[in-house]
Formats: sequence, C-alpha cells, structure tokens
Amino acid sequence: MTHIDWLGKPYYSLDAYFKYTYGEKCYKLAVDAGFTCPNRDGSLDARGCVFCSAGGSGDFADKYNINSQIEAGLARFDKMAGKKFVIYFQAYTNTYGNVDYLRSIYTEALEQEQIIGISIATRPDCLGDEVIALLEELKKEFSDKFIWIELGLQTIHEKTAEYIRRKYPLSVYEAAVQRLNKINIPVITHIILGLPGETEEMMLETVKYVSDLSVKQLNKMAIGAFQPPDVHGYGTDSKTKNITYKKSNFMCGIKLQLLHVLSGTDLACDYAEGSFRVLEQEEYIDLVIRCLQNIDERIVIHRVTGDGPKKILIAPKWSGNKKAVLNALHKRMKELNARQGTV
Ligand code: SF4
Repeated sequence: MTHIDWLGKPYYSLDAYFKYTYGEKCYKLAVDAGFTCPNRDGSLDARGCVFCSAGGSGDFADKYNINSQIEAGLARFDKMAGKKFVIYFQAYTNTYGNVDYLRSIYTEALEQEQIIGISIATRPDCLGDEVIALLEELKKEFSDKFIWIELGLQTIHEKTAEYIRRKYPLSVYEAAVQRLNKINIPVITHIILGLPGETEEMMLETVKYVSDLSVKQLNKMAIGAFQPPDVHGYGTDSKTKNITYKKSNFMCGIKLQLLHVLSGTDLACDYAEGSFRVLEQEEYIDLVIRCLQNIDERIVIHRVTGDGPKKILIAPKWSGNKKAVLNALHKRMKELNARQGTV
C-alpha cells in the first residue's frame, strides 16, 4: 500500500494543505477586532472559560484597527512580497457583534490582494441566522477566497465542559457545524488535551467524535482520500515551477491543543491548589500520536501543540519550546511508524 507523504510529515498538516492548494507556504496573521465574549461580558458569565486569559485566546494579536493590523502584519513579512496570507480573527468571539460591523471587518480583510481567506474564531452559540446569512453572502462575493470558522469545542464531555465553564451543550456545536457545512463553510474544531479529570479514553472519544462528524461531511461532498502529489502531478516542492496545484474548495480541520495554565486564570488557582497536574512532554507526545491515528486522513491538522504566551505561561514550561516538541513528535512517529488515520 502506498502511504501518503504529506511533505515528509506523518499527518496532513495545515502547511501541506496550503502548499498543495496554493503552491507555496502561506502565513496566518492574527488580528484583534475588539470583540468581547458572552462568557466574559456577563451574558452567560463574567469570568470567562476557566483556562482563558484576559486576552481571550488572542494574546498575540496587535491592538489596532483591522487595516493597520494587516499592514503591520504584512510589513513584518516585507522581505516576502507577493506571499499569501490568511487573516485570523482570533481574540475573543469574532461573530459576537452587530452584523454590519462584522460585514465591514471581514470585507476589509477579504478585499486585500495578498489575503487568500479569513479564519474566524468563535463560539457555536454565536452563529445566529444573520451571521450565517452574512457568511453565505460574503462567500459568494469573494468566491475566489475562503472563509473558515474555528470553534472551541475543547471536549465532548459535559462534566468537563461544566468545569471549564464552556456554557453550551454539545448539541449546539453539532447544530452549528451542520449549518456551516450546509453553506460550504469549513469548520476547524479546537480540542484541548489534558483537561482536569479527563482520561486518555475520554480525550480519544472527543477526537473520534469530531473526526466522525467531519467524515460525514467529507463523504457527503465526495471528497476522497488525499492523493500523493506524484500520482496527480502536483508538486512536492513549492519551488518547482509549472505545476498545476489542486484547488480544494472544502476542508475539515482539527486543532489539538495542549492545556496551558496561564497566570490570572481560575485554572491557575486550581493548579496552585494541586487539584490537577499538567502533562509531561513524553505523555503528551504519545497521546497526540494516538489522537492522530484516530483522525481520518482527509482532515487537515491545524495544530498539534499549543503555544501559550511565554510571559504568562505557568505550566507546562516544556511547551514553551514548540520546535523541540514538534521535533520530538516527528521523531517518535517515525520510530513507531505511526501515521494519521491508521488505527
Ligand atoms: S475561551 Fe473563548 S469562549 Fe471562553 S471566555 Fe475565552 S474568548 Fe470566551
């Protein structure tokens, strides 16, 4: 059997997706559009999720208006003029606002020439009819670009969801995925590994659930297994000229994130009290491998670790060296001959 080689990685990374789809490396630029979150403004709760720092998962984003943030972001890459970028609406809940405001900020990003698409992080309970209609409208207007929605599910287990104060049941996530898929909007689901009280079995249940839900959609859209580049003549090397790249108009994605304890969070208080422990690097790597083995090979893996802001990272400290974690993961997968989707 021919194994798929995702540009030398044993899983279908976002980097491979971009290179196979756009013929080159693409970059994500995080922006902060000044949103809040129903879990912080008192609508659902005023404390936020137990692990969420005051930056609302957007501690890396610059605090300016969208255009100037994009300009500043592009300037950081100015040696790479002509490169392609994705605007990532990251901080807090990026569909939680007036629909005219949403239209203006998404349009501002989509209109820029170097921008191939936008990725919007939000909650599944903040995707009402007006927002869905707007996404559908923009998808038609910018048909050569993409709109992705990133949903922070974290876990399928209601007891853990209650502890982390997620404030919506699993059924709301499932309904949101179905509505988005109906209008051809790809969903990237965030899953946190190492949440207090969760066993490996529970984490694998979450991963399998998300994979199965994505598979239903991929099957419905008749999206087959990714083919090795040499089979269809796609390039294996982004520098190779005269290659026709496969334009994929749909994708299902998963972000596997390691639980980080950040200062100023309620999770940090529980950690200080010793009510749970964080994962060691070796156990995290073995866990990620088992997760990847349980994820269908057509699903794009957007992240396999976390990169919490170092200034406020309490634990686990080893996660601060992302490169070392990725190297250790790839080395271990090679030793085990482990690959995505091969359980
Ligand atoms: S993690 Fe997301 S949903 Fe939870 S409080 Fe932070 S911004 Fe809101």
